[in-house]
Amino acid sequence: MRIYGPVPSRRFGLSLGVDIVPHKTCPLDCIYCQLGETDCLQIESEEFYTVEEIIADVKEALAEGPAPDVITLAGSGEPGLYSRLGELIDELKKLSDAPVLLITNAVLLPNPDMAAAALKADILAPSLDAGDKETFERINKPHPDLNFDKIVDALIRVTNAHPGEVRLEVMLIKDINDDRESIEKIAAIARQIKCDRIDINTPVRPPVPERGALPCDEDTLALAKSILGPKAVPIATFEKRHRTPAQKHEFNDVDKNVRETLMRRPCTLKDICDSHNLSEAHAQNILKRLKDADMIQADFTEQGTFYRSKGKNSTLL
Ligand code: SF4
Repeated sequence: MRIYGPVPSRRFGLSLGVDIVPHKTCPLDCIYCQLGETDCLQIESEEFYTVEEIIADVKEALAEGPAPDVITLAGSGEPGLYSRLGELIDELKKLSDAPVLLITNAVLLPNPDMAAAALKADILAPSLDAGDKETFERINKPHPDLNFDKIVDALIRVTNAHPGEVRLEVMLIKDINDDRESIEKIAAIARQIKCDRIDINTPVRPPVPERGALPCDEDTLALAKSILGPKAVPIATFEKRHRTPAQKHEFNDVDKNVRETLMRRPCTLKDICDSHNLSEAHAQNILKRLKDADMIQADFTEQGTFYRSKGKNSTLL
């Protein structure tokens, strides 16, 4: 279990991440996953860590600051696999005013325990990348016991019962689900989902191209917006929410925090500066030290230079 950040999120502002599932333990093996191939493809939930130890670590992170916009259950696996998820959300809500956000691939929502936990999250952010079983299998490479129709039914049922904010995410992959017919199939399902907003995403961060997941172009994002309707918003840049100078904070071990961030997701230099309140020069020095220690690498892409961790081990120096 790992607490990371706060880190900037393109969708939710400054996010304190709570990672409650071991690295790449997931019911899916999405071709666009930033963390590479799934290590453990599973659908059985487990108590990977106790609620008490998770809460103790979150309390410590909140005390160190800066204050997050959201406390996010997500990270390097599917949080729905955590067997005490509902109880954990209850406890997290007691810790601060920051809403608890559950980012989920939604495929475990047919499970009543997962559905009940999802209803407790202040913000529910499920994914839907496909409008039919074949595309679901091609993009998300699911556990063989998952049933697409049951997942869609549960997604519709749970979102319509959810009392808070629901943010659906749709990931469009070039030449797989970015044609008009595929988007219209997704839209037909999305119309039955109760959601406040639909984030239209496309995989711009490495190492996605290595797995055949290429970003669609801007015209396609615009087409998707027109099909998915007024709630749909293409997301392409980090949304910076209401941070104030009073929230500026120096971490005690900045090198370690930067590497923890890069283990979660590839970041640009600007991402790192924003999430850790660093000057560009300070961030560059840290990146150089981590690169010299062979802990991170730089990927040069059309979207810019992204830094990412080279290993799964969180031990630093
Ligand atoms: S659901 Fe998320 S963690 Fe799981 S494979 Fe897909 S992108 Fe990766």
